[in-house]
Amino acid sequence: MISGTTVKHFAYCPQIVRLEAMGFTERVTEAMREGLEVDREKTVNFLYGVLKPLNIVAKPIFRYNDLVGSPDYVLFFNNYVTPLDIKQGKERIDHVMQILFYLYIMEMKGFNVKEGLLYYVQQGRLKKVRYSFRERNYVARIIDEIRDAMKGKVKVTQPASKCKNCGFFHWCRPKIKGIIAEIE
Ligand code: SF4
Repeated sequence: MISGTTVKHFAYCPQIVRLEAMGFTERVTEAMREGLEVDREKTVNFLYGVLKPLNIVAKPIFRYNDLVGSPDYVLFFNNYVTPLDIKQGKERIDHVMQILFYLYIMEMKGFNVKEGLLYYVQQGRLKKVRYSFRERNYVARIIDEIRDAMKGKVKVTQPASKCKNCGFFHWCRPKIKGIIAEIE
């Protein structure tokens, strides 16, 4: 199965995807969960006020073959739908990859999609992520690469500093040579 979390982990390091395929997991703390809940509550009011959708559905689950996507919200407009994820902290490329992944699954399921949204709570910023044939091809390529990484077909070399902040370090135990970490 490939989920939005798989895509996020792949963006950080392909080795995480390999470890998850082998059954290892990262621990999610209660504090992390509570933090997200508080922000979600505030955000729903904001979304109705600013974007004026016809309806908002929280945490829907979309499945297409072995792909599973669950954006924080889906906003229903007149003739199209838009997934939206709430994010903490700074803008990152994996946020964009995740929302494109959701758009890809939703399109495959027959929804009319044209963009996704990322809402950065601390900055109060709403970022639009466009979705067209280019983005569809990009997601398809990422999915192929994730499948290869799951099978251990991707050679992994990372800055060692990244490994220090990695929740999978304990399982991974990469070979560190100076500032470089390698999986053999
Ligand atoms: S410890 Fe380093 S190499 Fe291993 S999964 Fe984490 S980031 Fe990747």
